[in-house]
Amino acid sequence: MEKKQFQAESQRLLDLMINSIYTHKEIFLREIISNASDAMDKLAYKALTDDKVGVDRSQLKIVLTPDQIARTLTISDNGIGMTKEELESNLGTIARSGSLQFKEELAKGEKTEGDTTDIIGQFGVGFYSAFMVADKVTVTSRAYGSDQAWRWESDGADGYTIEPCEKETVGTDIVLHIKANTEDDHYDEYLEQYRLSELVKKYSDYIHYPIEMLMHKS
Ligand code: ADP
Ligand code: MG
Repeated sequence: MEKKQFQAESQRLLDLMINSIYTHKEIFLREIISNASDAMDKLAYKALTDDKVGVDRSQLKIVLTPDQIARTLTISDNGIGMTKEELESNLGTIARSGSLQFKEELAKGEKTEGDTTDIIGQFGVGFYSAFMVADKVTVTSRAYGSDQAWRWESDGADGYTIEPCEKETVGTDIVLHIKANTEDDHYDEYLEQYRLSELVKKYSDYIHYPIEMLMHKS
């Protein structure tokens, strides 16, 4: 399978996330949940403006599934999903989020890695923040209006792959392969139901879709 490289700026941001010394790594969940919520907003909006789109707003929800055996945390949404092209351009290219200015300064060398601490606190760092807690991220997505689903996968360091896959429903599943604990950093908490509920309460209280938690039965 062909391995594609991230854009240079994206790779720099990614490296920052992978090697993050930031103490509030927990904000990754806020970023992933906010993306899921955005995706459901987009589908709901499409339904409002296009009669052909039959979406029952009350069905839209986010599901968190921690699996302590597999060491994965899956965040699923039934939002608008992404096509192959969208996976490439949205996840392979630097996002246009609030931290864009910082990213630009970083690219120009006006900011150093030591400044990351401020940026992560101040702005959304987006999808790549997943790499603060995960050593591999698998995104399975099926776009609204498409029969074909795609799997995007990356360990951050050496690019990403995209391949066709099966997915029954429209939407996106983000699987975070949670890092192993080190002497200094503990990641197990991101697989614990109680801790995850705490984080949802702390950072995602404003989300207007239900956020459910499933326990994986392995
Ligand atoms: P931002 O949310 O500021 O645009 P992110 O880095 O958080 O930046 O996300 C990058 C892009 O990836 C989003 O703009 C969106 O297009 C896409 N994306 C991320 N997660 C999802 C998802 N769950 N469903 C659909 N699209 C998504
Ligand atoms: Mg975002």
